[in-house]
Amino acid sequence: MAVSTFKRGLRLPTRKHATEGKPVELVPVPKQVVIPINQHFGAPNKALVNVGDHVVRGQKIADAAAPGPMTVPVHASITGIVKKIEPRTQSNNTDGLCVVIEAPPRETAGDSPEGEKPADLFMPPLDPFACTKEEALARIREAGILGMGGAGFPSHVKLSPPPDKPIDTIIADGAECEPYLTTDEAAMSEKPHLLVKGLAIVMKITGVNRAIIGMEDNKEKLIPMIERELRLENAPAGISIGLCRTLYPQGGEKMLITALTGREVPSGGLPMDVGCIVQNVGTLIAIAEAFTLGKPLIDRDLTVSGGACRTPKNIRAPIGTLLKDLPPEFMDIDHDRLAKILFGGPMMGTAVPSLEVPVQKNTSGIILMTKEETIVAAEGSCIRCCRCIRNCPCRLSPVIMNTSLEADDLDYAVEAGLMDCIECGSCAYVCPARIRLVQRFRVGKQRLRIRQQAARAAAEAAAVRQMGAGAAVPAGAAAKN
Ligand code: SF4
Ligand code: SF4
Repeated sequence: MAVSTFKRGLRLPTRKHATEGKPVELVPVPKQVVIPINQHFGAPNKALVNVGDHVVRGQKIADAAAPGPMTVPVHASITGIVKKIEPRTQSNNTDGLCVVIEAPPRETAGDSPEGEKPADLFMPPLDPFACTKEEALARIREAGILGMGGAGFPSHVKLSPPPDKPIDTIIADGAECEPYLTTDEAAMSEKPHLLVKGLAIVMKITGVNRAIIGMEDNKEKLIPMIERELRLENAPAGISIGLCRTLYPQGGEKMLITALTGREVPSGGLPMDVGCIVQNVGTLIAIAEAFTLGKPLIDRDLTVSGGACRTPKNIRAPIGTLLKDLPPEFMDIDHDRLAKILFGGPMMGTAVPSLEVPVQKNTSGIILMTKEETIVAAEGSCIRCCRCIRNCPCRLSPVIMNTSLEADDLDYAVEAGLMDCIECGSCAYVCPARIRLVQRFRVGKQRLRIRQQAARAAAEAAAVRQMGAGAAVPAGAAAKN
């Protein structure tokens, strides 16, 4: 099979050997879960439960605070009592409102039809090929499904492109290019039938008859088992496998599209601008389960690994599980060697300050890194070597973005490509001065979003004032009459 790729990219040590090929192990139900009510990219949710309420695994506990498409609900991942609703530190290091649920003794979890207890509050199964497109999209939203590859974008929105953006290709993203992480590989190996089913559902919803399962060539061994699924009598037509070179960040949407279709997403554009929708393989499996089992997104497969982890594994944990509550057979930490706790992979993940951080819908891994595995050098001064420019897969100018942000010139940073940055970390990885480029870009984007929100709020307030002034005239006129 031909191997495709994108231009540039880094050959990183993959460090996947510790968990590669290992099955996904189910963790015992934790004594508590801390579930952030806003795990998606979009408008905020509000809690639907109160302290003291008894909730059942699968029950909706938070949903949109106001009508609008950019929200997904959140569900209880264990059965128990709501003990607190309060702000807690989340995996992005911000405080967000969380529902704390405590489990009664001897609660057990499961994820298969046999394992799910009858008491679980799932939706009734829905035939995706018999229901309407609107019903299918509503099911995906109701199941709380969002991009599990990291971005957290609501899946039902991604699957509803505007009519002027025709889609002809669905891409299943199984590249998993981040070092250490192996859960996508495990999912493709253990649930190829659900991956194919999820793709078939997405193809039906979007009316697209071509799909590609993209993976790096270090997962070539999975091809026969996926091909077996594709050869089954009832398998949908039009699905193929696309092998890409093992190169970072091959799993980035834009890179995968270029590698598999030869198309380039324009600056400021989205995959739909070149006729593509990209869905992570875990998301596609969650979509299939939302229809076949009626199961909302309440469990998360993730890799626990790193030099300070004595029990590297692929595990499945209820959303909201705290690191500190994972039993030692699932997370045995060598505290003497632990230098950094990462949520996600080492290139795009976030370092968290403690073990009190909950697993979220987009947590692909927890990496316990030693000093030898992580860069702890102090930042130096830029030597204008341009390595960051030569290695940026999006062909941006990281050094210029950085100096603009240092000079507080947000507009120039945007002109240099700040909003096209996919935060892949390649520039920081190659920078000899160890400048924390990605952290700066994240903060810069956050500042830009705050500025845009403030501008929107000011515009809305002005419009309300204007409407008020307009309304006052006829009211006054009516009084004269
Ligand atoms: S500027 Fe952004 S996209 Fe380019 S290498 Fe750096 S983090 Fe990656
Ligand atoms: S790689 Fe680092 S030192 Fe070199 S130009 Fe970029 S920011 Fe400066």
